[in-house]
Amino acid sequence: MQARISSELFQRAQQRIPGGVNSPVRAFKAVGGNPIFIKRAQGSRLYDVDGNEYLDYIGSWGAMILGHAHEQVTAALENALRQGTSFGAPTAGEVRLAELINEAVPSVELVRLVNSGSEAAMGVLRVARGYTGRDKIIKFEGCYHGSVDALLVKAGSGATTLGIPDSPGVPDSFTEHTLLAEFNNLNSVLELVETHPEEIAGIILEPVAGNMGMIAPERNFLQGLRDLCDRAGILLIFDEVMTGFRVDFGGAQELFNIIPDLSLFGKVIGGGLPVGAYGGRQDIMLKVAPAGPVYQAGTLSGNPIAVAAGLATLELLKTENPYPELARKSAWLTQEFQSTATQVGLPLQTVAMGGMFGMFFSETPVRNYQDALQSNTARFSKFFQSMLQQGIYLAPSAFESLFLSTAHSDGDLERTAAAARVAFEAAA
Ligand SMILES: *Cc1c(COP(=O)(O)O)cnc(C)c1O
Repeated sequence: MQARISSELFQRAQQRIPGGVNSPVRAFKAVGGNPIFIKRAQGSRLYDVDGNEYLDYIGSWGAMILGHAHEQVTAALENALRQGTSFGAPTAGEVRLAELINEAVPSVELVRLVNSGSEAAMGVLRVARGYTGRDKIIKFEGCYHGSVDALLVKAGSGATTLGIPDSPGVPDSFTEHTLLAEFNNLNSVLELVETHPEEIAGIILEPVAGNMGMIAPERNFLQGLRDLCDRAGILLIFDEVMTGFRVDFGGAQELFNIIPDLSLFGKVIGGGLPVGAYGGRQDIMLKVAPAGPVYQAGTLSGNPIAVAAGLATLELLKTENPYPELARKSAWLTQEFQSTATQVGLPLQTVAMGGMFGMFFSETPVRNYQDALQSNTARFSKFFQSMLQQGIYLAPSAFESLFLSTAHSDGDLERTAAAARVAFEAAA
């Protein structure tokens, strides 16, 4: 694998950009080596500046569910570009996108468009607090909700302690209302609710965790949270930035048939452009300005170019319903990984849902963040490097999910499974 130009670019990047990248996980720090600079992408493939081709399982961290440079999305973008790029005034596209989100996810009765998942998380917390008149939020260890001050907490000495920020620059006072619970552990939530009666505005979670590696919710976990929220007057908030339009057209809430009060979206709804959204029950969302007093605004929110890409993507997903096919493919690939790893003698845990899948080098089932941290990351790094050498581009971290697109062919998957055999042997 040739990497001279990437290497030179990374040297230059480090002179002018902190760590050489504009988002930390793009660096290869966790797996070793330097990031690859991408020149272009088409369908399931990425092409780097050094002339290498890769089968892409990152898909811009899940956004590119139709594959790269999809013809109809590109055409919609070209068309939108010629009409002007930003007006700071409402457009028909925003209305259609809001309607389409509601058709796919009926719990989202009213929706506000923003520019990223992080921004959506910021907005959703504010409206949850504004609506309930309460300050505290429960989040789960290992769940990620963007680079929002109050949510940059995942470590902590147990489920009942107050949040300690993960990052310098986040004052303790900004996270003092953030309570941490353990994923898949209803009791840890119940304890917090009992300790802080009438103080908790919302419980926010990734209904299928995707940012500590992929972890499925266990039977009754989501239902248990729903019941608890109903009993205690707490809003249930599903962060579907990753799972929305990804595990199913209606997201994890459709797949598991649990209706949250509020939801947030990103990634797929922008079709590769910056779009985020938060929304939910009408009586709650009517608190958002200018309908209500909870302030939230954005100069480029609902930007016509970004909305055009999102609209084209969601319209295609709606008419083509690729989810059963994506689920078949992700199940096939994870089963291949599982059986090959077993043959090579490597304990592996896998999970797949719609166009999203995950793996842990672990002997025991992974149910929460602490379990995820016990997995063998050194082994993952070897697996990652071998896959990369064979032209398969996985997320450069053991704690990320993997993403399929509709452009991934059965041939692509077979090639991936064959490469995985070599990579498992290299990691053993
Ligand atoms: C990616 C992600 C975010 C943050 O979205 P950005 O667009 O990167 O700000 C929030 N929540 C979840 C679950 C995500 O996967």
